[in-house]
Amino acid sequence: MNEDELKAKLPDSVASRVQSLKAADGVVTVVLDVAGLEPANRSGIEMAVKEMLGEAEGVSEVRVAMVADRPRRRIIAVGSGKGGVGKSTLTANLAVALKRLGHKVGVVDADVYGPSQPTILDNKGAKPEGRGEKLVPVPSPHGVPLLSMGHLVEPGQALAWRGPMAGNAMAQLVDAHWDDIDLLLIDLPPGTGDVQLTMLSKFKPEGAVIVSTPQDLALIDAQRAANLFESGDVPIIGLVENMSGYACPHCGEISHPFGEGGVEDASKGTGIPFLGRIPLAMEIRAASDAGKPPAAGDGEEAKGFHDIAAKLSNWLEAA
Ligand code: ADP
Repeated sequence: MNEDELKAKLPDSVASRVQSLKAADGVVTVVLDVAGLEPANRSGIEMAVKEMLGEAEGVSEVRVAMVADRPRRRIIAVGSGKGGVGKSTLTANLAVALKRLGHKVGVVDADVYGPSQPTILDNKGAKPEGRGEKLVPVPSPHGVPLLSMGHLVEPGQALAWRGPMAGNAMAQLVDAHWDDIDLLLIDLPPGTGDVQLTMLSKFKPEGAVIVSTPQDLALIDAQRAANLFESGDVPIIGLVENMSGYACPHCGEISHPFGEGGVEDASKGTGIPFLGRIPLAMEIRAASDAGKPPAAGDGEEAKGFHDIAAKLSNWLEAA
């Protein structure tokens, strides 16, 4: 029997766990992925494989090796060309919305210029502990654990980090005890500096989301951020337009202080998908400052975040 025929003897539930199957001189060596199985089930599956393949014609011995690789952790980077466009606000709210969609999400706040995630996700003042050589992420009331540059240094200090130091700090935040977290959102510093380069070389994200406000200048910067990811072979999942139209709290009239539809137009020009827009709303700013990301609720301000999170979730599913 050849290797394919041997594999076909296994039921689908077992065959799906076969990482490799080799047969030579009557000896069959099977590597099984047993991640997530209880010890009793692991030995059960091992015995079953030995029994089923041992009966096959020409097989004198079956060797089974079991591996339990850590679950694949997927990384999505959130970047922008410049600061203050709402990248951190978007990252936190997407994390909370993705959590509500059933993902096990963690956030890495690598923004040396303004590590604001501990404020937005409401675990300011908490310090991560170390276990062995690595940090343990700090839980947040929204069910999204976090490691932030702001956890490592006093506010304002991270800014003094230059080059490799900032890169090393971000590596510590990513290479931490994330345990069962299967999706990490990385809130990058604006621009295209050392933190981005470390990320691309050490923890290449599966995709990137770029945030921009509608002004022309912000868009040019966003394009530069997109170029960086593309040069690193990281697909751009899409562009988000933040602060896109202001609803007057008195009369409800929508005005467009930074222009209208610029990011969507830009995305058409570049072929990068447009993921959606988040209006400029006083409530979003106030909620962020208060550590209550709107996406944790179901109010009007939550909608845009939930829509974009659903698109991200679909992208992850299809990737
Ligand atoms: P960045 O991470 O790009 O520097 P932040 O997320 O820190 O930007 O946002 C900058 C400021 O703008 C914060 O005070 C934040 O609360 C506010 N902000 C962000 N997005 C919105 C929005 N859609 N509506 C109102 N305020 C916003």
